[in-house]
Amino acid sequence: MRTQLQVLLKIVFEQSMTQDNYETSPNFISGLVSKAAGVLPLVDGAQLPGGGTRIVDGYSSFYPVPIGDSGELVLIDGGIDKHAKKLERFIKQRELGLGAIKAVLLTHAHRDHIGAPHSLLNRGADIKVFVSAADGEVLQGQRRGEGKLQILTDRIPGLDAAIPGIEPEIIEDGETISFGDQLKIKALAVPGHTRGSMGFKISGSSDGSNVLYIGDALDLTTNGAKNAAWLLSGDTKTSEQSIIDLTYRMIREGDEIDSVIPAHSGDSSFNNLRAFRAAQKARELRAVNFSARRHTAY
Ligand SMILES: [Zn+2]
Repeated sequence: MRTQLQVLLKIVFEQSMTQDNYETSPNFISGLVSKAAGVLPLVDGAQLPGGGTRIVDGYSSFYPVPIGDSGELVLIDGGIDKHAKKLERFIKQRELGLGAIKAVLLTHAHRDHIGAPHSLLNRGADIKVFVSAADGEVLQGQRRGEGKLQILTDRIPGLDAAIPGIEPEIIEDGETISFGDQLKIKALAVPGHTRGSMGFKISGSSDGSNVLYIGDALDLTTNGAKNAAWLLSGDTKTSEQSIIDLTYRMIREGDEIDSVIPAHSGDSSFNNLRAFRAAQKARELRAVNFSARRHTAY
């Protein structure tokens, strides 16, 4: 039974990479998954606040973010495809080489987020891969990652979340990394989905917006936020608490956020994370409607 399920999962993974038509149509699998999960759909090629582009890769997505006007890029996450075909297409369309990618920051070490760094390192690219210490162990194959589905796929050759030979740069909670003159990326721990899950707050981009790439710590729906499905997470309750804690922290530290961008749902624009505080008051994340509360002061 388990073997049949594993074969089925492998087929879904492979299909999710071959159904793409980058220019003209959304990914079949990601469309299906968004609908089933009731979250905002992923829009391939969408231009995001802060200058990033959403590349939908199967049912996951990742983002090249420009480093000022230098023609260089930072990647947030890396999608599914271990050959990084869509990334290559993105780079070629802009008449850049793969050397334009200076770093990859991984929100966590799940198989559907590591495709690009796997491909780039395999080709001998000189890139740094930043990840939390806990998820760095998974990348290095020192332990299995969290999440019920991940535990299952980990046993299928090629579907585990390890990258052979990787020596990740460990990034700590609260640490800020600078790229070029302006771009700053602050790591914010949001454990639960995986032990070392992190959000990345990007500031100093050309449009002046502050953007929080949140990975799989939450998904956005038309009614607000919700946690990733239990099947995909290590500990959903901890993940939910992490988002509430993050909200208080952002308010306390005066960190403004314009947009939150999850990996498996569309993004949402709002002035800051205060809506999450309202969510805590309501004791139910999904009860919050971000768009309705966008201009409300708490
Ligand atoms: Zn994940």
